Amino acid sequence: SYLVFSKALIVLWLSCIVVTEAGSQVWSPIQAPKEIASKFFRDPMNLSIASTDYGHITHHTPFAVFAPSSIRDIANLIKFSNSLHIPFTIAQRGQGHSVNGQSMTSNGVVVNMNELNNGYRNGERIIIVSKGRIPFADVGGEQIWNDVLNASLKFGLTPLIWTDYLFLSIGGTLSNAGIGGQAFRFGPQISNVYELDVVTGKGDVVTCSAEKHSELFYAVLGGLGQFGIITRARIALGPAPTRVKWIRLFYNNFSTFYEDQLYLISFSGRNETNAADYVSGFLLLNQPPVDLSFYPERDQARITSLVTQYGIIYIIEFVKYYDNSSQGHVDQDIERLIQGFKFIPKFMFQKDVSYEEFLNRVHTAELLLTKQGLWDLPHPWLNLFVPRSRISDFDQIVFKGITLKQNLTAGQVLIYPMNRSKWDDNMSAVTPDEDVFYAVSFLHSTGFDKLQEFQAQNQQILQVCADAGIGIKQYLPKIKTRQEWVQQFGPKWEIFQKRKHQFDPNRILSPGQGIFN
Ligand code: FAD
Repeated sequence: SYLVFSKALIVLWLSCIVVTEAGSQVWSPIQAPKEIASKFFRDPMNLSIASTDYGHITHHTPFAVFAPSSIRDIANLIKFSNSLHIPFTIAQRGQGHSVNGQSMTSNGVVVNMNELNNGYRNGERIIIVSKGRIPFADVGGEQIWNDVLNASLKFGLTPLIWTDYLFLSIGGTLSNAGIGGQAFRFGPQISNVYELDVVTGKGDVVTCSAEKHSELFYAVLGGLGQFGIITRARIALGPAPTRVKWIRLFYNNFSTFYEDQLYLISFSGRNETNAADYVSGFLLLNQPPVDLSFYPERDQARITSLVTQYGIIYIIEFVKYYDNSSQGHVDQDIERLIQGFKFIPKFMFQKDVSYEEFLNRVHTAELLLTKQGLWDLPHPWLNLFVPRSRISDFDQIVFKGITLKQNLTAGQVLIYPMNRSKWDDNMSAVTPDEDVFYAVSFLHSTGFDKLQEFQAQNQQILQVCADAGIGIKQYLPKIKTRQEWVQQFGPKWEIFQKRKHQFDPNRILSPGQGIFN
């Protein structure tokens, strides 16, 4: 009788009717093709996970979470939605590490991409191909970068460009761009993809590349999840180094910091042996670093007093990879590279670590912060691309004019330049229209008590940039109005809209971005 009761409950649940966002259409999973009808979940645990993200700011509860065991399940789900008089929205969710609800939907269906892994044997969805002239990895869209690293290192290979944190999904970063300190040389992650498998917003399963179905390929890369769900990406690999010299140079003057950092990214050839392998930078604003473990104990006090003295310190962070064959000359290479640099004398610090340790630096911090209960706080982040011609104005107006004055920072503020020639303008990702532009990221982490203050500061930064005509673009954008989206995409807006109509005419995919709904 328990079984009958349970079955009755399931039938009752399946036939429960939901009003979709459009307000007039009703549907129930019981109407879905039988292959997928049992893959919708509405238990509190699934719904609660899908209703939040790393930002802990936005919350939307979906009608159901969908657990695909195959690509065909995803295609069937999308076709099912399209078959309804008013389709329901579908939010494909990778690791949910967005900060503004980008992988959520109200009342629609969240596709838990992680479930794809369960339908296949362990590790089957990362295939490293090392034979031939061009090595690559064929990787499921739901896989995380850290697993791609581990799989490729077994072949002495590695992806070329990394985000700062590797526990992000392939589909999630490729939907934005995937930037990091290697981008000045190799471009963003979207510039290092040879081919994709995509389930479009119509439910078609398409293999695309720059040669084949190129319109879809370019649309999806940096496409904020609007055109299709990436189920496989062919990612460029190169030889992996074993060790890393990791350097930090301190500046109290923006213009010398700016000149030296730009010099480092001028060595941008892929095979350039003089070049740094990673160039980034960050600020210390009003307070010394929370984590001083990078620096020798004997230097920690003078670093702290330097910040107290100047209020604002700019730090160039760069690395040089090496292995057995280059071990003998890596230090001379670094000396040559920074000859004439104008950092504060005696404020150069370095560490010698393994390649994996360097790439996993944020994960190391994550483990520490999780222990202290500080990882799952609200994250009112603001990520901007700033044109090179206006970065000094940005320093004056924003760093010195707002953040320093308000003394409101919690978390890191990154600043590093990239070469636009490494980006492909056919792709959906948007950048300022200058040869060099900067990623500036305010990576705040705060308690709920200060959340509104940080949000207000972010708003103020956007406003002063608009007033000063700085021509910024948002990265991982949080944009509300149609007019702002049109401005964000600029000349690409027309094609973005056209592609949406072509690949997702019913506008069902990734509604959490707030572009077409
Ligand atoms: P989700 O949050 O799950 O999804 C993000 C968007 O992508 C949504 O619109 C979603 O619908 C869509 N999407 C997800 N999977 C797919 C798919 N398979 N196909 C199509 N669309 C899909 N970014 C950088 O570029 N550089 C960094 O250095 C960097 N560092 C970070 C550090 C931390 C600690 C965190 C939390 C984020 C960082 N990010 C960085 C941002 C990160 O790249 C994006 O938030 C990314 O979207 C996260 O991937 P995810 O799998 O969590 O995506």
